[in-house]
Amino acid sequence: MDPTLLVLASTALGAVVGAGVAVTILGMRRAGRRRAAELRPELGEVATTILDEIDMFAVILDSSLTPVYANPIARQERHISDEDIRDPEFLARVRRVMTTGAPDTHEPDPTDPADTVRIHIVRIQRRFAVVLAEDLGEEQRVNAMRRDFIANVSHELKTPIAAIGLLSEAVQQAADEPELVRGFAKSLVKESRRLGELSRDIIQLSEAQSTLRPEDRESVSLRDLVRGEVESHREFAAQHGIELVVTDDSEPDRDATILGRPTSLGTAVANLLSNAIRHSPEGSRVGIGMELQRRSFLVTVTDQGEGIAPEHQPRIFERFYRVDGARTRGEGGTGLGLSITRHTMRAHGGDVDVWSQPGVGSSFTLTFPLHDPEGSSKSSKRAKKARRATRGSAEAAQTAAPVPQKGHQ
Ligand code: ADP
Repeated sequence: MDPTLLVLASTALGAVVGAGVAVTILGMRRAGRRRAAELRPELGEVATTILDEIDMFAVILDSSLTPVYANPIARQERHISDEDIRDPEFLARVRRVMTTGAPDTHEPDPTDPADTVRIHIVRIQRRFAVVLAEDLGEEQRVNAMRRDFIANVSHELKTPIAAIGLLSEAVQQAADEPELVRGFAKSLVKESRRLGELSRDIIQLSEAQSTLRPEDRESVSLRDLVRGEVESHREFAAQHGIELVVTDDSEPDRDATILGRPTSLGTAVANLLSNAIRHSPEGSRVGIGMELQRRSFLVTVTDQGEGIAPEHQPRIFERFYRVDGARTRGEGGTGLGLSITRHTMRAHGGDVDVWSQPGVGSSFTLTFPLHDPEGSSKSSKRAKKARRATRGSAEAAQTAAPVPQKGHQ
């Protein structure tokens, strides 16, 4: 286990188990060490070896409730004060286990963010009590996020599904009135499209959140990627009376490639374009700027739309967050677009930022870390030198940095 995690886990344990667990550690530190050395052989080599290895907090107390052993994770606890000593409730629980032999387990309360530690007290060999504790904070957080996400998805699905049900019944009942049927059918198409968009975005979000494996990565030309997405949005823009204007300050001679998942990267750009078009007034322009920096490639999508108030700006990247829920839902937004973009960018080592001013417009910037051709060529020169020096041995070849693949240019 990572030492930082260990310290964090120990800190959380100290806080939540509180004075109870503190007693064991402090006692261990002050007077227990000598006794531990004396008593440890009685505990059995096997038991202490196992406890030394397990990935959770473990201490052993003797029948006088004096700590006689602490495993490495418990020994790392450094956040204990003298006031923490002697928590009567904890000592009473250990004593009860010692007397009755019945194990005592405390399960964390999933609804209480402060209660994240599972504690298990068992009696061994009638004379010792083992206290095992583990912090389930991270697991609880992930479970809570999962619950929230499922609740949100169900909520989002409920509306179009209910609408489709009602509209289908309405079509049946109005079978003899073609005008009405046409109207209902139009709404049916709209609702089913919304369902389709939602399921597409959920799939894209799950892809964006999954770890990018080396085999998923392809060499992607960022200029081609951006230009391709702009072209495929031209018609959509024209339908809204918007002109898309591309500016490329990215020194066309210099390579701008990234090793990544082309479909996800395309979606990250597409979401910004689609938002800019949807939030722009008719007759305005959406600018798409490209800029090549030393180690990164910036793509900026700027619109002259209504802008986003400062209090909403940090939240628009959250899943299902909409500034004006009812309105944007009606316009076809799922509330997942920017979240997909941010997850995708971060999975590729980049990020997305926003600048916006209500009444002026918004500007979203994607920062792609470059698959550095200069650095690679330097490394490949070093690699060639190494190969020469070792007369092309396999070992030298392995240390050579990979030569970048040719992009789709
Ligand atoms: P949606 O699918 O609803 O557009 P997003 O995650 O893409 O969801 O965006 C979240 C919210 O951020 C939107 O509902 C909208 O209110 C706001 N937003 C995003 N882009 C823009 C923009 N270019 N101009 C104004 N508001 C925007």
